[in-house]
Amino acid sequence: MQFLLIAYLFAAALNKEQFFLSAYRGVITKIEQNKVSFYSGHSMVFDDGISKNKQELLDKPDIEDQLHYKYNQGLSSANTDAGRIRNEAFFKEIYGKTQAEVSKNLKSLQWCPKLANQTIQFNVKNGAYAALMRVSNELDKHPEWKKYLTNVGGTFNWRNISGTNRLSAHSFGITIDINTKYSNYWQWDCGCKNEGATLKYRNQIPLALVAIFEENGFIWGGRWLHYDTMHFEYRPEFFVE
Ligand SMILES: [Zn+2]
Repeated sequence: MQFLLIAYLFAAALNKEQFFLSAYRGVITKIEQNKVSFYSGHSMVFDDGISKNKQELLDKPDIEDQLHYKYNQGLSSANTDAGRIRNEAFFKEIYGKTQAEVSKNLKSLQWCPKLANQTIQFNVKNGAYAALMRVSNELDKHPEWKKYLTNVGGTFNWRNISGTNRLSAHSFGITIDINTKYSNYWQWDCGCKNEGATLKYRNQIPLALVAIFEENGFIWGGRWLHYDTMHFEYRPEFFVE
């Protein structure tokens, strides 16, 4: 009896492989024997089996490490750095390996036509563009949020994260910074680029606005310990149920 119960619980709990398979089903064919296979014919190691400290998780994560921290939603949730861990090769495989390759996968989107009406570029791969379109349509029904939605700070920009040699998620066209005027970023607040700095969290973005992004597969930089409240990034692996 006890054995059956344990077997049942084991079967019911999704493993990390299943989160990726579900979130990237248009690009990943299977994850077996620790190997991620893509429709392109390429494959990558899933879990390198190496245990890493905080900085190593940022600098040399495998695909599995991307889910190292839990992404906490909700009103009084604790911030983690979930989503800041990115295996660059994984994103390159899906969204484009170079600036030119990503550019070919971008499509113009009329952002919040009623409130902002700004033309932005977003990546069509793995449902990213379609997800941002849904967010835009929903946000456009909220004139009370107009000031946050106008003057979008940017989407596609092939560049490194400030103070690092890691590519920003903006490089892949899967990320949008909303109006920087009402945003807080840990590096601006501490006037530093040191990951170990003591930070005092600040945010001005309404959580109801954030929820619309999250319902469509976007994580919010405002939930990071190293917060970046303008930043929304398409990361469906955190929203698999
Ligand atoms: Zn950003």
